[in-house]
Amino acid sequence: MRGMLLDSPRPSDQSPLRLADLPTPSPGAGQVSVRIRCCAVCHTDLHIVEGDLPLPKLPIVPGHQIVGNIDRLGPGVQTLKMGDRIGIPWLYSTDGTCSYCLRQKENLCEQARFSGYHEHGGYAECCIVREDFAHTLPPTFSDEEAAPLLCGGVIGYRAYRLSGAQPGQRLGLYGFGASAHLVLQLARYQGCEVYVFTRGRAHRELAEQLGAVWTGTAEQTPPQQLDAAIIFAPAGALVPHALRVLRKAGVLALAGITMSEIPPLDYALLYQERVIRSVANSTRADCRDFLREAAEVPIKPRIQLYPLTDANRALQDLKHSRFEGAAVLQI
Ligand SMILES: [Zn+2]
Ligand SMILES: [Zn+2]
Repeated sequence: MRGMLLDSPRPSDQSPLRLADLPTPSPGAGQVSVRIRCCAVCHTDLHIVEGDLPLPKLPIVPGHQIVGNIDRLGPGVQTLKMGDRIGIPWLYSTDGTCSYCLRQKENLCEQARFSGYHEHGGYAECCIVREDFAHTLPPTFSDEEAAPLLCGGVIGYRAYRLSGAQPGQRLGLYGFGASAHLVLQLARYQGCEVYVFTRGRAHRELAEQLGAVWTGTAEQTPPQQLDAAIIFAPAGALVPHALRVLRKAGVLALAGITMSEIPPLDYALLYQERVIRSVANSTRADCRDFLREAAEVPIKPRIQLYPLTDANRALQDLKHSRFEGAAVLQI
């Protein structure tokens, strides 16, 4: 099979992925093989190819927002059948036995394995997944629309839930890329007022088109205090800005997998029971719940299509914010 392979991490501008001919993997017991149709590009992929995260497996095929059809069943597979359309997110497998798994926090599993990180991912023609970690996709979404829901959407959804934002409340979003533009649509549908803080003028225009009640930069102060906020940008410097506009007991959720240093905080910004919390990975229940709710809205992802062989260019464009919404590789 063809795949875009990372031999060693390098800046994305040096095109670190190369087209390679790889052995087609075979499904083991309880696994299925997937003929991949498309795979969305995530900021985490950028962190992987550039070596911002420790890499447990090299060379590696990145990609963890995978949509495809089952083309082979391993022994003992019971719930899926040939031809089924499935999605594969970041959470590739867990042990099911650690204290986190047993407390409905499998996103924090001690033995969690991630797609396109511990195992070859979706920048390829084929991959393998355990049947109990594959997700059936609502027919509402085309393959290309479904792909960015699987990480940008699901992680944003977890951050949104952990922010505690309720219908009728005011929610702030810092940074407006693939994840935020999906969360905005869900939050509006559920009756939140959404405030978007981002530097890019095109980002602010898209946010307004999608129904943000206010847009501006992080340095600006909206007319009302916010009940909850989510920071999507990997910039710790945004934390004091977000706390500054949060009401008492408001929650600030940090949705990035990496973030630059948070500057020293004046305690008065945090006092009055404000909460800062991080968000790590997501559970299978997050994925199921989000896909169901996204279909109900229905969320319309903005997508920029690239052929598989242009994966380096997609990552470069993501790094330099050259498109709105999410990049999707067609395979
Ligand atoms: Zn576990
Ligand atoms: Zn991701």
